[in-house]
Amino acid sequence: AQERYTSIRDKPAETKCGNVIGLHMNAGLMADLPSLGSSGAEGVGLFRTELQFLVRNQMPRRSELSALYTRVLDAAQGKRVVFRTLDIGSDKVLPYMKPNDEPNPALGWRAIRVGLDKPGIMRMQLQALFRAANGGPLTVMFPFVAQFEEFRAARAEVDKTLLREKKLGHVVPSSIEVGAMLETPSLAFAPDKFFEEVEFLSIGGNDLKQFFFAADRENERVRKRYDTLNLSFLTFLEGIVKRCEASNTPLSFCGEDAGRPVEALCFAAIGFRTLSMRPASIGPVKSLLRRCDLSEVRAVIEQARAQGDMSVRSAVMEYLRGQY
Ligand code: PEP
Ligand code: MG
Repeated sequence: AQERYTSIRDKPAETKCGNVIGLHMNAGLMADLPSLGSSGAEGVGLFRTELQFLVRNQMPRRSELSALYTRVLDAAQGKRVVFRTLDIGSDKVLPYMKPNDEPNPALGWRAIRVGLDKPGIMRMQLQALFRAANGGPLTVMFPFVAQFEEFRAARAEVDKTLLREKKLGHVVPSSIEVGAMLETPSLAFAPDKFFEEVEFLSIGGNDLKQFFFAADRENERVRKRYDTLNLSFLTFLEGIVKRCEASNTPLSFCGEDAGRPVEALCFAAIGFRTLSMRPASIGPVKSLLRRCDLSEVRAVIEQARAQGDMSVRSAVMEYLRGQY
């Protein structure tokens, strides 16, 4: 099926109305790296570093991690790689860490919460990343930031670790971009200052949707109950786009929904200009984007809104059927 898209692989995801949407890929294992070339991804928009921790039976050493990150950066050949720091807890439990007996792990001690409470692992990971950058640029993203303060504290760890590395005589990255994932509704309402301080934001749609609708992403019974193209959710996402535009904060969407062509099209229509998805989705998403005019899709969305539709899906599907 991938062959169908080879003719557009090296072409931009440029819509009929001239908007170029950046398509990046999600990765996490070494086996994903060859897709960087074959998929036509502009870079790695989400590198899930916890996968390397999950496939082992003991905590990896700093030197091992650094070697792994070096391989990732080498494979990227200068393309941007967004390294997400360890996102453990919830559905991702390390076999060699004492399990937490939590009634609601998705709402529990996870991701940046663990990173800030037990900074040892985070510092070790940051050092490994700094060393892997080998004097080049580095991009780091913190998962599951629910309030400004957590981002500030994580950012302070970056600065502290950087200083330590310099003192130890290690080469440090030429620049470090520090961003956050927006995965809890609370962060969408953070003060303007947060949007100004964070260097970029990426929406973790899998988690954001689960918390927006209060519907467990792991629970088959409720997982698909609420449509991503539900107008309440789209309106919420659009509010985030507007806040990012107001503060000039680069924004991307990196949950699974970004890889679904109709969803991706609607995200572009409400203002997203960067999407990150599994490599196999890049072709189909690009193919649809290149055939569409975003202002037309936008009009379809507005009409559905005016009609009081619950979701824009059927209106957008109908529009697409009329087109092709
Ligand atoms: C997300 O929550 O959408 C996301 C990209 O992160 P993960 O799926 O790893 O939680
Ligand atoms: Mg997430």
